[in-house]
Amino acid sequence: MRGLQVVAGLVLLALAGSAAAGPAPSTGTYKVREGETLSRVAKKTGVPIEALAKANSITDVNYVRAGRVLTIPTPGEPSPAATAAPLPALPSPEVVAGGGRTHQVTAGENLAAIARLYDTTVAELVTANNLKDANLIRIGADLVVPGPPWLCPVQGAHQFSDGWGQPREGGRRHLGVDIFAARGTPVVANVGGTTRHSIGAIAGNGYYLDGDDGNTYYGAHLDTLAPAGRVDRGAVVGTVGTTGNAKGTTPHLHFELKPGGGPSVNPYPTLHQWC
Ligand SMILES: [Zn+2]
Repeated sequence: MRGLQVVAGLVLLALAGSAAAGPAPSTGTYKVREGETLSRVAKKTGVPIEALAKANSITDVNYVRAGRVLTIPTPGEPSPAATAAPLPALPSPEVVAGGGRTHQVTAGENLAAIARLYDTTVAELVTANNLKDANLIRIGADLVVPGPPWLCPVQGAHQFSDGWGQPREGGRRHLGVDIFAARGTPVVANVGGTTRHSIGAIAGNGYYLDGDDGNTYYGAHLDTLAPAGRVDRGAVVGTVGTTGNAKGTTPHLHFELKPGGGPSVNPYPTLHQWC
């Protein structure tokens, strides 16, 4: 069970008005907006969806980020993107951590047992699920389990914007959000879990937090790091700084969210909710 809540399922796509319209094959670009799918871009351009996916290094045709500029290849010719090193594709489902989990009721379970399982209360389960009778729960029902609360990882005056996916030198993308705060501002465990240090030329003083919510969190460029190990939510794991490749920049915490410990997704919706 992962501490995730999908707030906006698939990211839909839209066609930028200035790109070539009509069914004729064309070479050019489309800026993707909300409301259009890759298959619609394919129909509009006459370029097969597989060719669009290949030209743009899209591994999952159901996920194309709104705002992305797609290369529209000429049919039968290798696309420029096939020879130039493309930026890595981004996972794009919008996820908010800390918003709750679900539990499927099995035979013989009651609310008290489920509450114990998730360290919550019967009253919270009743409220979260609008239950009329706490003694009547259906086998197979998906119950909402109130999630562990989440703390802003920077505890002090701070500011951040959605910098997810911005191009970086070396063909990389920015896979996190930068939370700006004065040097020395406490960085805390946003959920309970276990921290590991990750120290290197790019990260500087970095840490991973394997959260009790099933997600892994990553922070970089800290000025100081507290000893690694078991932490409660709110425990100080270090302080905001400019180490690694942030040297000489404005002090900030580079912060990433890895649902289930997998690839990073945009942490902005989660930070926006909790910070
Ligand atoms: Zn960053």
